[in-house]
Amino acid sequence: MKTTTQIILALALAWSITAQAADKIKTAKGDLEIHPVKHGTVVFKWNGKTVFVDPVGGVAPFKSHGTPNLVLVTDIHGDHFNKDTLTEIVSDKTVVIAPEAVAALAPQGLKKRITTLANGKLVEKLGVKIEAVPMYNLTPARLRFHNKGRGNGYVMTFGGKRVYVSGDTEDIPEMRALKKIDAAFVCMNLPYTMTPEQAADAVREFKPRVVYPYHYRGSDTAKFKKLVGDASEVRLRDWYKK
Ligand code: ZN
Repeated sequence: MKTTTQIILALALAWSITAQAADKIKTAKGDLEIHPVKHGTVVFKWNGKTVFVDPVGGVAPFKSHGTPNLVLVTDIHGDHFNKDTLTEIVSDKTVVIAPEAVAALAPQGLKKRITTLANGKLVEKLGVKIEAVPMYNLTPARLRFHNKGRGNGYVMTFGGKRVYVSGDTEDIPEMRALKKIDAAFVCMNLPYTMTPEQAADAVREFKPRVVYPYHYRGSDTAKFKKLVGDASEVRLRDWYKK
């Protein structure tokens, strides 16, 4: 007979496994696993490949994910690009995709591994189609944060499923015009990007199947979810775990 303690421990273990289970999206080549890391940083696992988006904050947050096969960097700011973190986590075989402005700030050893991609350009690496899309501010008082053309949002295609990461942007026409997005990671935080209202309004226009608010420090994601309503499945996750 199991003791009460054993049963409680078993239940606690089962709960913690469920709580840690990655979000998944079915693709033509198996599940795409989604692991929110922190703020603007996401890890994807698909078809035996590991993809890091905007890895920053040292190696510790990435230890459990191993060495990435592919890394995407959106912009030059410290919450998206950290040359020391990036230098430490990439291997000789890692493919790094970044805008020219990021490559220009990379030390030589790292720079030679970077494939630069400008807004509107597309490459395919390791079976993942990657399209760079614009990200920039629209509001006059915020224009100084992100000028058009410097940074990249990305649309990645994993086995037919299209995943959008916005980078730091407002509700630009290029976001509103996106088509057939299966999962979208949409930023919201002032003064750098946009309000939950702006983000929700854009989402209601391009209607991704699933949307994750991310890069939302200090923003009301419950309000965002309410405003999106039934236009999209809103997945609220904790991107600011201690
Ligand atoms: Zn940012």
